[in-house]
Amino acid sequence: MTEQNMPCPCGRSPGKRLLAYRDCCGRYLEDFEQTPAPDAESLMRSRYSAFTLGRADYLRATWDPAHRPATLDFEQGLKWLGLSIRAARTIDPDHAEVEFVARSRLDGRGIRLHERSRFVRRDGRWFYVDGEMLG
Ligand SMILES: [Zn+2]
Repeated sequence: MTEQNMPCPCGRSPGKRLLAYRDCCGRYLEDFEQTPAPDAESLMRSRYSAFTLGRADYLRATWDPAHRPATLDFEQGLKWLGLSIRAARTIDPDHAEVEFVARSRLDGRGIRLHERSRFVRRDGRWFYVDGEMLG
């Protein structure tokens, strides 16, 4: 059971105040059938939070079925350190891109994932399509 009052793993901090999980990505992770993320950046953030929480169900539910992997493996011992959104771009009402850097640590080694992700909206829901590695 996820602690609802903890700071949200995605680090969203409007006005420099860190949002609680239940006021941020928790709204979507805990009720994704009824409460889908309203935009591509929110979906991106909630998927990062889902990775940190090991929530394969959420990751699968928000992955474009045509691109969804058959199985999802979480790296044992990987510790997520933070997410930073670099850019969010709307292409048209149903397509968007989000560029981000996600930092993690594995066996004492820092890992930096810099990706531009593509998202599509179908029937009012955003889905992750795929991503392009940058730098
Ligand atoms: Zn969040």
